[in-house]
Amino acid sequence: MPDWGCGRRQVVRGLAFCAVAGWRFASASAQPAASRTPPVRRVPTVVIDPGHGGVDPGAISPNGVYEKNVVLATASELARELAARRSYRVVLTRSTDEFLPLRERVARARTWRANLFLSIHADALPDTEMRGLSVFTLSVQASDREAAALAISENRADLVGGVNLSRQPRDVGNILLDLTRRQTDNLSILLAHRVVVELGREVVLLERPQRSADFAVLTAPDIPSALVELGCLSNPAEERLLQQRSHQQKLARGLARAVEAFFAAHGAG
Ligand SMILES: [Zn+2]
Repeated sequence: MPDWGCGRRQVVRGLAFCAVAGWRFASASAQPAASRTPPVRRVPTVVIDPGHGGVDPGAISPNGVYEKNVVLATASELARELAARRSYRVVLTRSTDEFLPLRERVARARTWRANLFLSIHADALPDTEMRGLSVFTLSVQASDREAAALAISENRADLVGGVNLSRQPRDVGNILLDLTRRQTDNLSILLAHRVVVELGREVVLLERPQRSADFAVLTAPDIPSALVELGCLSNPAEERLLQQRSHQQKLARGLARAVEAFFAAHGAG
């Protein structure tokens, strides 16, 4: 079992330190093995974000089914699936019918030091014939725009794995932020691909199921994130399926397998 605590964030933090210190202390870490304390075994944290809630119903089907209810039920199934594996700390951004602003969802994921973030939604499209699951990651343009906004912000502290960028020379801060952002983008795309592979075996996929868009909820610069549209509430067949517990469990099992495959291949970051 790898030590999940010794990941990408620690490497980035180390890079920041060495960049500032000019690598002068690189050899100081060579200590006798006997003096080291045993590593604490940590498990990765998965944050599951059921979309909408409270005053925000999300999409509404022709028969009055609310997206916020369908996604909460499926996200809760996913949380149970993952918790049963005893290999993850699993957190839901909301477990009741409450309204949460988008930025608050990202902020909570960062507070919980998430290693992976999955936002769960259901679509409604103008064409009622269209159906199928799709997965979104943050578009490159949106990602670069977010990074630029962060870079000019005065309060950049703790955005890159606990590195207080306000204390780093500006160039070092920008390089680290860019490095982290790009690595996160790549991992997010790999996560979305896993979801498509695992669920493509069991449910209908939308045409070109892996997409990118400007979703505010996917903008954490240091957490691999994807937004899953479970299906189309506007399609009568899928409207029925999305309400069925057996279908919600099928979706949850597929998503759990995708999470497992992601960590097995890429670690916890
Ligand atoms: Zn939605």
